[in-house]
Amino acid sequence: MQAAHPGLVQTFPMTAVRLLPGPWKDMAELNRSFLYSLPNDRLAHNFRVAAGLPSDAEPLGGWEAPDCELRGHYVGHYLSACALLYAGSGDAFLLAKANALVAMLAECQAADGYLGAYPTSWYERLRQHTKVWAPFYTYHKIIAGLLDMVEHGGSRVALGMAVRMADWADAYARSFSPDDWQRVLLVEHGGMNEAAFNLYAITGEEKYRELGYRFEHKLIFEPLANDIDRLAGNHANTNIPKIIGAARGRELTGDERYGRIAENFHRIVTEHHAFCTGGTSNGEDWQAADAIASQLGREAEECCCSYNMMKLTRQLYRQRPDPRLFDYYERVLYNVRRGTQDRNGMLMYYVPLQPGMYKTFGTPFKAFWCCTGTGSEEYAKLNDSIYYHDDDAVYVNLFVPSTLAWPERGLQLRQTTKFPAEERITFSFDAAPTRAMALKIRIPYWATSGGSVRINGAAQTLAIRPATYLTLRAAWQAGDVVTVEFPMSLHHSIASDDPQVFAVLYGPLVLAVRLGTAELTTSMIYGGYAPQGEDGYPLPEIDAGDSEDWLERVEASPPYSLQFRSKSRGLSHRLVPLSEIVDERYSVYLRRGSAA
Ligand SMILES: [Zn+2]
Repeated sequence: MQAAHPGLVQTFPMTAVRLLPGPWKDMAELNRSFLYSLPNDRLAHNFRVAAGLPSDAEPLGGWEAPDCELRGHYVGHYLSACALLYAGSGDAFLLAKANALVAMLAECQAADGYLGAYPTSWYERLRQHTKVWAPFYTYHKIIAGLLDMVEHGGSRVALGMAVRMADWADAYARSFSPDDWQRVLLVEHGGMNEAAFNLYAITGEEKYRELGYRFEHKLIFEPLANDIDRLAGNHANTNIPKIIGAARGRELTGDERYGRIAENFHRIVTEHHAFCTGGTSNGEDWQAADAIASQLGREAEECCCSYNMMKLTRQLYRQRPDPRLFDYYERVLYNVRRGTQDRNGMLMYYVPLQPGMYKTFGTPFKAFWCCTGTGSEEYAKLNDSIYYHDDDAVYVNLFVPSTLAWPERGLQLRQTTKFPAEERITFSFDAAPTRAMALKIRIPYWATSGGSVRINGAAQTLAIRPATYLTLRAAWQAGDVVTVEFPMSLHHSIASDDPQVFAVLYGPLVLAVRLGTAELTTSMIYGGYAPQGEDGYPLPEIDAGDSEDWLERVEASPPYSLQFRSKSRGLSHRLVPLSEIVDERYSVYLRRGSAA
């Protein structure tokens, strides 16, 4: 069906964009290995038990263990990840594996339309307000996984299953008075509204649009509709998916109130509740507006929040193609997505900001945290936000080696770059578009020292204005080559609640102070989802003035590609990209002291 507000720019289908060799492709391949490593019978085990079917599979551990109240959630993420990776890379084996898993789940659903890895009695606990973790959170992941199998894998079976799941949820929701239902919605329920709107988009059936509205959590939506920040004290990742649902609802129905809610929320979070990395939350909650220096916790920046803020940013961009949205997206992508997967494809939960903390990663069969799920999806769709288009132009928002095919226009475009390790980005027209069009390249907010543009080797005289698009319109020919360079420089992000506390960035990269490996062991790095039982270090201090020349670039050695050293008196700090730190203590923020 057609969206009421289809947007000013459109996404390309996942099948149109392919990653070329480089670090992004490497991350996707590590993720693929992880997805391959999980046997279907182990993934389906809890569903079969809940449906009263025999299973002799060895149960998975962590949050998929048979006694965990969130069990089953990862299976939904898994279906999404397989569908996305299939669409983005053509991996038919992975699609077949996911289809086989869908068939196993269909057998579990056959009895009464309910599908879950735990019994329906948990929804009665929800009704009675007795303690239960988050049944609809998990329910949402499973429907979303099935819908991704519909959208990207063409599965008719999955569509029938998603419809039955939505109908089951609809009947349950209708059994409450409006006030009682709002009390149910106090418990985390993921993006149930978004899933219902997505099902409405696929089927055109208005009852699913109504179901999307039924999952509107008024306590969260009302203040946002009036541009009031009541986020402090709320669990961050419980609420971001609801706003994604509002943005999706607006896209499909033209609901301007939902548009305001989503836009206000995005501005409030990115301007008042985000660290220099773009990540949000501390201890999983939003804290007071503009609290940064006071919130540098070991459980800061839950990765699910980063995943969902990126998803929301993408959604808003279609309606408001403002390059600054991708300035934010890039911050999150480079600093709290890149670098949250280890060399074996294991994923993180938080990105600690307490000085002296370190990154912790999951283990193959014993984690399955919420962030393992969103991470599995993230690294399966690294190709999905690089390019957009409208009728007249292709928009390039990210500098990632990749190819773009736009068969309706005859266009085949290739982007090659080692960015951010080098500043040059090259676009080659492997096949020319059938008519003149514009190539619109995002000039990042950090490109404050100009830049250069060459077309077929000839320098162009063009203004390089940060946070705008560079627009190159031409009747492009096959073989045309465009080269751009945006020189990076050092800049600061100052904590709003303490002007002496700040972080350093180089271009899009947040730099972290290396704090060594003292008493750091592998079992600590793989020992859980956050560093445990440590007091941390004081914020590293520098005694420099306000200028940025207190840092000099020095030679880096692996695993680091880039290193700076402080020239200030006293201790000399070494700073490297946060995303490249894997097994070393660090601090993202520093304190500016007075000259000794
Ligand atoms: Zn999470």
